[in-house]
Amino acid sequence: VSKNVTDALALADQGLRRSDDLVALRRRLHRIPEVGLHLPQTQSAILAELEGLGLEITLGDRITSVTAVLRGGGPGDTVLLRSDMDGLPIRERSGLAWASTNGAMHACGHDLHMSGLVGAARILAENRDRLHGDVVFVFQPGEEGHGGGRIMVEDGVLAASGTLPVACFAIHVLPTGPAGAFRTKAGAVMAGMNELRVTVRGVGGHASAPHELRDPVPVIAEITLALQTLVTRRFDVADPVVITVTQLSSASEAVNVVPASASLAASVRTLSAASLETLKVEVPRLANGIAAAHGCAAEIEIVELYPVTVNDAAETAFAVDALGAAFGGQRVDVMTSPMMASEDFSYLLDAAPGAFLLMNATPDAVGPENAQTLHSDSVVFDDSLLGDHAVALATLALERLAGAR
Ligand SMILES: [Zn+2]
Ligand SMILES: [Zn+2]
Repeated sequence: VSKNVTDALALADQGLRRSDDLVALRRRLHRIPEVGLHLPQTQSAILAELEGLGLEITLGDRITSVTAVLRGGGPGDTVLLRSDMDGLPIRERSGLAWASTNGAMHACGHDLHMSGLVGAARILAENRDRLHGDVVFVFQPGEEGHGGGRIMVEDGVLAASGTLPVACFAIHVLPTGPAGAFRTKAGAVMAGMNELRVTVRGVGGHASAPHELRDPVPVIAEITLALQTLVTRRFDVADPVVITVTQLSSASEAVNVVPASASLAASVRTLSAASLETLKVEVPRLANGIAAAHGCAAEIEIVELYPVTVNDAAETAFAVDALGAAFGGQRVDVMTSPMMASEDFSYLLDAAPGAFLLMNATPDAVGPENAQTLHSDSVVFDDSLLGDHAVALATLALERLAGAR
């Protein structure tokens, strides 16, 4: 890393000067959360913010993405910086003055990500002459389970500048942990996300005569519990798997009616392709076996949603060094284990090297014991850290391109 202290201070100063603007932008975005792949209001808000920066802008055909290319003052490689754009279908109960009232909520901090990336675009556009290569700013809809990242890769976001990026970076805020700290790790950093559905089919009828039926309800209950034993007996503890059954249902419309079928749905998190393959063999064997033992039949569906987010070792080491130089080593932690949450930045990292990082943004007024998690209807973030978020992204791009010369 070629970072010198003067550069870092100059960038930090620019971040500080931006901070009020970015907070105002973040709060405007917070009021207009949109869900899914089509976010027209959010897209036009971002476009207005990027105006006048001299960026080459492309809008998505299939989704409301914004891809903006900044050409540096000298030739060089390309670095890609990405923000997600979507909110969640959650009714906000944060009590904040700028809370959303439209029935959706930026409960995952994507409003902060957009503001931070706008800040980085402004800083880098101002420092265009010092930039050796190009920076691609990606604003991506549909991170929350809609696969926006996959669509953008399919639609060629990696070719936006004309050359494949040498590195891709994203920084996700977290509403817990010491404010301002950055965290990441090499290798698997976020889990793969999959959905499991099991339906047990039996024979329904009168609740007073189960011996004449094939009651699927105790069978789905047995499968629910057996899945937890499966996790501990069929998977290596060093390659963790989480199976969380979140939905149980039956087709019964009345308490005195045994239904003909009962089903479960589970969120399944994995950290390797190998454990996903094991899952595809073991879960059907378990469910079919238990159902057969009770004279029922099982149908099993496993839907792969997001792959594991895997950080490139060299790009992660670069990011840790660059942020340590810019903010001080005490603000950068190397995680000892991955988070079992998931991210569709994984699609970009499957196609190009890079690193996904986390930044803690817990407000001082909210103690660690009261901090809510991402996706909570009352989660709050410290948006005074947006200047740092912007500087961190700008630093990664500027330093990575300087180092690659
Ligand atoms: Zn989320
Ligand atoms: Zn998120």
